Amino acid sequence: MSGPILQVNELSVRYPVGARWLQAVDAVSFSIDRGETLGMVGESGSGKSTIAQALLHLVPASGGSVVFRGARWLELGRNELRKSRKHIQIIFQDPLASLDPRMTVGELIGEPLKEHRPDLGRAERLERIVSMMERVGLARAHLNRYPHEFSGGQAQRIGIARALMLEPQLLVCDEPLSALDVSIRSQVAMLLKDLQRQLELAILFIAHDLASVRFSCDRVLVLYLGRVMEIAPRDALFGKPRHPYTAALLQAVPIADPVRAKARRISPLGGEIPSPLTPPSGCVFRTRCPLAAPRCAQERPALRQVGASVLACHFAEQTQLAR
Ligand code: ATP
Ligand code: MG
Repeated sequence: MSGPILQVNELSVRYPVGARWLQAVDAVSFSIDRGETLGMVGESGSGKSTIAQALLHLVPASGGSVVFRGARWLELGRNELRKSRKHIQIIFQDPLASLDPRMTVGELIGEPLKEHRPDLGRAERLERIVSMMERVGLARAHLNRYPHEFSGGQAQRIGIARALMLEPQLLVCDEPLSALDVSIRSQVAMLLKDLQRQLELAILFIAHDLASVRFSCDRVLVLYLGRVMEIAPRDALFGKPRHPYTAALLQAVPIADPVRAKARRISPLGGEIPSPLTPPSGCVFRTRCPLAAPRCAQERPALRQVGASVLACHFAEQTQLAR
């Protein structure tokens, strides 16, 4: 790892809803180093996919900046973007829905090359396709098959191969394992990890499932209602969660052992997520926070470093004591 390949500064995205604006992402900052996997977690609607889409230029940012490979990524002109777009690729939750059912596996994996590397001859293209298929665990014999002939896990391998064909430097994975059977999740997670090591890929790994984040990620960003609550190295986050929301998310994972479950001091995450159209004043998590105090309604907490974590909580220094 050697310095950030992606630097996101105060990124904001809003959607028009009727006559109002819904602030889906609110001044979010983070970075990803070369070869690093950053996990992004948070309940449904926290803005994870919107951040991914903004990085891919699929939705416009309403504020902030993104520096990718040393250039201001959101301001690239059309021509520059056409050339540079291949450096960030995405894989989605539902592999089958994102693959054209009329194309064969070979065509699907080879399509990005056709567009971006028209200089390659047929034979060389085929060679690259087959070598990528082998890399992701597909056989040459699958070349002329169609995506619907594959299981979810195999289809996700096709999606991964297609995304990696142009040797991107950042791979955005938006819930890549959620739609897969539990039994094959770990295989695909393992594959992503191996590929990352071999290719020195940076990965933004969006997930609900904390176990897969723990397995796959070097650092983790916790998002709530479009804002960063905490960013911490994996072991610090799981071993010593500092933000009350992070702690609640971890505790919301079911505990099988009833004695340990009873010993929990903070109740698992309860209550409704407020509407993003009318977010709470001050700290957006305060309406569900066990530590909330009057100050939390008045002042938006800034992100600051405490121990190994960066977190947005007025009581950052005391959260460990409170539990
Ligand atoms: P999930 O875990 O369910 O995938 P998410 O964290 O990916 O959720 P987003 O899909 O980014 O969340 O949504 C963030 C917020 O923006 C939500 O309140 C959502 O309803 C809203 N939103 C997303 N897309 C649009 C859209 N096209 N128009 C209006 N609002 C949108
Ligand atoms: Mg999403």
